[in-house]
Amino acid sequence: MQFDEIRALDERYLAETYARYPVAFAGGKGATLVGTDGREYVDFGAGIAVNIFGVNDEAWKAAVKEQLDKIQHVSNYYYSEPQGRLAEMLCKRTGAKRVFFGNSGAEANECAFKAARKYSYEKYGAGRNKIVSLKGSFHGRTLFTLTATGQDSFHRYFDPFAGGVEYAEPDMDSVRRAADGACAVVIEVVQGEGGVNALGAPFVRALREYCTERDILLICDEVQTGNGRTGKLYAYEHYGITPDLATTAKGLGGGLPIGACLFFGKTEHALGKGDHGSTFGGNPVVCAGACSVLERLTDEFLLEVEGKSAYLRAKLKGFDGVEAVTGLGLMIGISVKKDARKVAAACLERGLLVLTAHDRIRCLPPLVITKAEMDEGLTILREVLK
Ligand SMILES: *Cc1c(COP(=O)(O)O)cnc(C)c1O
Repeated sequence: MQFDEIRALDERYLAETYARYPVAFAGGKGATLVGTDGREYVDFGAGIAVNIFGVNDEAWKAAVKEQLDKIQHVSNYYYSEPQGRLAEMLCKRTGAKRVFFGNSGAEANECAFKAARKYSYEKYGAGRNKIVSLKGSFHGRTLFTLTATGQDSFHRYFDPFAGGVEYAEPDMDSVRRAADGACAVVIEVVQGEGGVNALGAPFVRALREYCTERDILLICDEVQTGNGRTGKLYAYEHYGITPDLATTAKGLGGGLPIGACLFFGKTEHALGKGDHGSTFGGNPVVCAGACSVLERLTDEFLLEVEGKSAYLRAKLKGFDGVEAVTGLGLMIGISVKKDARKVAAACLERGLLVLTAHDRIRCLPPLVITKAEMDEGLTILREVLK
């Protein structure tokens, strides 16, 4: 189909929820995408941190196809080898005790919030159910994860919210004021949608200590930061802490939908039979692909991610029109003098895909991006920003 026909279908039949850029993709390889008109684009977005090995990755496709040829779905009434293998890998790599699989980041967070409330209910009785969330955070689009999202702009129109969420600034005084009656605090150690802001290490460590002292569960939302994106398997590792619950999604499936909630230490038995579930959660095809993703996120590979991050950041800092470069690893925020959305549109015109987050440019390239692809993207960015 020609691009104009695709756009016409979209405008006629799809819900009007997305302000799309004027392009559709037909294929590609790694961090190079090909538009329906045959034009090539360098991808600094990875489908919002999803395609961590870019597109058309051979090993990932082989793992997915192998499972697809066996059985595509089983209900969670039955046992499943790919689910078991993936859960084992996640636990062995992180020290988590158990894993629940859903299909998205929002669902992973819903699971963590339910687990936190049940943990507290069983230990302390009803009423200790508040979730403390940080201003500027993003935790998803379902009604409860929207409630937990600390940005007013997402809250218009959708009242009433479930309640039981309090917002704090990322400082301990503010958290302490909000934490009365709390069962959990949820953080993204690097806020993604909020503008690619890494939390300060002293704050994160003090928060970990405070939560431990009060038996308030610390939930790390690693939906965007996880799975090698920041140069560690999970970004909380940069801070030398372990959460009580961690959630992840986006990159874990390598391009297919999955969400996971990891239960560490004392939350191991928080959810029991019948407490939670999902029809599609832990789909065998998706889990088989995710196993091949995790297998390849070795320490050696993560060092390469750090190297690419250092290379891009050093170049970007020298560009005219760049005020600051933020984030961790290949989760890069760029404060620019121009309007970020206009910069992204101008990059697209020249053949580079970048994302925005608030007033920043956000780059989340596939972790396998090559030096040549990075250089091509940087050349376009330099031109657009000056
Ligand atoms: C994307 C994102 C979510 C929501 O994930 P979905 O898969 O869109 O539900 C939640 N938290 C963070 C930090 C995210 O970046």
